[in-house]
Amino acid sequence: MFFLKKNKEILRAFVNDGLIETFYLKNLPSEKLSAVKIRNHSAVFKLIDSSGLEYEYDFSDSVTDSRYVHFSIRIQDNFAVQADCLISTTSHAGDSAKLYREHKISGIRFQPFFLPEGKVKPEEFIGKGLFERGFHFPGRVTPGNVSCICICDYCRKSFHLQSFHAGFSDVQYFYCSDYPHTLVVSSYIKDVPAQLSETDPDGLNRLESKLPRCSICNGTFHYLNSFLCPLCKKPYIDFRKYPRNRKNEYYGNHIFGEKIQRWDEKPS
Ligand SMILES: [Zn+2]
Ligand SMILES: [Zn+2]
Repeated sequence: MFFLKKNKEILRAFVNDGLIETFYLKNLPSEKLSAVKIRNHSAVFKLIDSSGLEYEYDFSDSVTDSRYVHFSIRIQDNFAVQADCLISTTSHAGDSAKLYREHKISGIRFQPFFLPEGKVKPEEFIGKGLFERGFHFPGRVTPGNVSCICICDYCRKSFHLQSFHAGFSDVQYFYCSDYPHTLVVSSYIKDVPAQLSETDPDGLNRLESKLPRCSICNGTFHYLNSFLCPLCKKPYIDFRKYPRNRKNEYYGNHIFGEKIQRWDEKPS
């Protein structure tokens, strides 16, 4: 490692192919703030590491022309890259932060990753949940006006997720077998697994046998179904591979802008 040149460029950030920031090895940890005015309804944020690997996050669905996007891009000492933004009506960063705290504008978290200079292999995150991927933090509630831009582990395309705190909403969520469709069920219904608790397999079987088919694609809902990439349908949060992660993953997710399905047990 001591061969590394201290002024080495380790990350470049672009918006709609225009360079906005460059990071150098000598300045870590580092945070850079940038404001970009959106034109042509296009918002593609791209990070390129020193190996040339690209992380492209398309959030065009969240902007209209003349919006200002306030980016914060951070590289930690351990070479973790974290970036997020506020989508604002004003170019003023302080006013935008205030509007965000008042829930009048929204924020986006871009999927964090490690630079190749770090010691963390990207394969370690394949199929992991949103806590391990660094979107949510145990003990800290993610505000409801924050959404996530994820990058699929397989097709490497980005997609837009909205998380909801299932515990605070008194629901349990179930993902569809075929597409990233989400069903929620009140946690007061019998046999619904509680968050952060071991499940009772018999109770879960009884409940799952009663759940409706997906109203969009006719798939089936199961507690251990994975959340799928909407583009290639490969698992993104892979509960089949990591079933032990399921009970701790108390944020449910749905594709941004899409409706959640709900089910209530009919009184017998
Ligand atoms: Zn479905
Ligand atoms: Zn994919």
